[in-house]
Amino acid sequence: MRQLIILFIVLVLFPQPAEALWKTNLEMHVIDVGQADSIYIETSNGKHVLIDSGDEHDGHKVVSYLQKRGIHQIDYLIATHPHHDHIGSMEDIFKAFEIETVYMPDVKYHTTYYKKLMKSISKSGVERKEAKAGVKVKLARNISMEFIAPGKQHYKSLNDYSAVVRLEHGKKRFLLMADAGITSENELLKRIDQEKVDVLKVAHHGANTGTGHALLKKTDPDYAIISVGRKNKYGYPSKDVLKRLKAHDIRVFRTDKLGTIITKSDGKSVRFFTEFPQS
Ligand SMILES: [Zn+2]
Repeated sequence: MRQLIILFIVLVLFPQPAEALWKTNLEMHVIDVGQADSIYIETSNGKHVLIDSGDEHDGHKVVSYLQKRGIHQIDYLIATHPHHDHIGSMEDIFKAFEIETVYMPDVKYHTTYYKKLMKSISKSGVERKEAKAGVKVKLARNISMEFIAPGKQHYKSLNDYSAVVRLEHGKKRFLLMADAGITSENELLKRIDQEKVDVLKVAHHGANTGTGHALLKKTDPDYAIISVGRKNKYGYPSKDVLKRLKAHDIRVFRTDKLGTIITKSDGKSVRFFTEFPQS
């Protein structure tokens, strides 16, 4: 009886935190930034995560998208790797939002985008942490984010330094591959157990540099999201990757066809919402 009275008082005084303890929902927005990446994750207990900023001219779109949602602060900003289509607008993100922590792989790159990012970090005094396999971040009681790559200090290709994120929400799992190539993918396969992934954010805009049969077999995704530009000059997504996704019976969502793609999860099921109608 005494416990019941205490529970009642807690519920009356702190209705939201108490509810958040039981049920935190999650939304993932793969923002249509053309031939680039920018993914926003929001949890109903108020955590905000931004993975990549899009390319050089995408800053305005990403900033206004987040501001329209009333966001002022980003708890975790992840710069997956220093290619311009991932960090090109980081300076705009730093100017528009208060950033708590930045995660990035330990790799330097001699471009103006990289220098601007490093300058923004030092100017803001934000905490910078290394994104590498094994690093875990808890977003809610039932939501955790774990980096499962990069697993090594040195790679030939910059793409293989990509911070790969495994997001777990109750029974649902998301695997966000950034631009990881087959070298990182094969390493990652040795590191993870056979496990069901519900939503796969396909590596490298659907390029045939990864997303092999072995990955699809081991993770068995139901849905795949490809962040890719309309009529891009690289011919992404590759026909071979699309063929493999089809062979594994995976439903594909593409930003070049559907615009921004939103996945909503309650920890038991996922639902998709797209900017443009699905044919
Ligand atoms: Zn890229």
